[in-house]
Amino acid sequence: MASTTVTRRALLLTSRARHFSSTAARPAAEVKRLGVVGAGQMGLGIALVAAQKAGVPVILVDNSQQSLDKGLAFADKLLSKDVTKQRISQEQADAARALLKPTTSIEDLCNADFVIEAVPEIPQLKFDIFAKLAEICPKHAILATNTSSISITRIAASTTGGNSTDRSNSSRVVATHFMNPVPVQKGVEIISGLQTSSETVETAIEFCRKLGKVPSVSADRPGFLANRILMPYINEAIICLETGIGDRDAIDAIMKNGTNVPMGPLQLADFIGLDTCLAIMKVLHEETGDSKYRPSVLLRNMVAAGWLGKKSGKGFYDY
Ligand code: NAD
Repeated sequence: MASTTVTRRALLLTSRARHFSSTAARPAAEVKRLGVVGAGQMGLGIALVAAQKAGVPVILVDNSQQSLDKGLAFADKLLSKDVTKQRISQEQADAARALLKPTTSIEDLCNADFVIEAVPEIPQLKFDIFAKLAEICPKHAILATNTSSISITRIAASTTGGNSTDRSNSSRVVATHFMNPVPVQKGVEIISGLQTSSETVETAIEFCRKLGKVPSVSADRPGFLANRILMPYINEAIICLETGIGDRDAIDAIMKNGTNVPMGPLQLADFIGLDTCLAIMKVLHEETGDSKYRPSVLLRNMVAAGWLGKKSGKGFYDY
């Protein structure tokens, strides 16, 4: 019943795209080979879950060999933890690990059926990568982004090579916005741009379900659903710290113990990455023009100092 509701909502949200599209809705396409661009915390998590749950080979692309090495070492750690806790057998862990195919060459995505981009939240970087993906991936491949806040319509527009009437590439662009940490969180937002076809949305929903995720469909508006709600909460917690309403521990303790969440907003911001939080707040602020989304000065300063949270070793906490 729930899945039917998601599908109906998806088709409703993409009805505008279908109106422009010459192809009627078709069933979801099968994904036999996945590509992931960016082996950071999100990309690595998506790749690992796909290998474990869908059992598909994953071509994991990163332009930094160091990031690939770090990511795969983390995958090994997560898999051996699963084995130790008897959640999976050693054979299952080995099988999943063998499906991860690291590479620094994006051209290796030339036979992927579905690609998920998870590079940093920098618009031009994503536009350049999607223009490249449209060029090198097979014409049937779905091109998905894990963006937290950048417009899917704009990302899709970067695949047209300047010819906005040609929707052969832009219709296969969609967002699959996974939540962090990917192996743990079940939620995923599916967001279609103006150009996205209903078949693309169907395939994205089906593939995310194969990964054991629960898709929520949202519209292409700044912050979509999850970050439209979560980021102002985190930003407000940072303002509370900045203005001395409470110290770090008081802020995190009251929200953790008062709202029954596993961690307080400042610790959560460290886990997400303060650069990512700032990038999302900037999009919300700039795209809506609403001052309620102004990023806090302390958040800006911490990012300027290179204090990005867990990934850099220092944020609101030391790691
Ligand atoms: P991250 O900084 O941990 O990882 C990004 C990776 O991309 C790095 O390994 C980097 O080397 C690689 N990269 C950079 N440029 C590249 C290029 N040109 N080609 C290939 N690889 C490249 O970032 P992250 O936290 O994993 O976030 C990735 C995306 O996921 C962002 O769009 C972010 O907004 C989104 N997201 C993040 C979270 C979160 O909690 N961190 C949650 C949901 C969505």
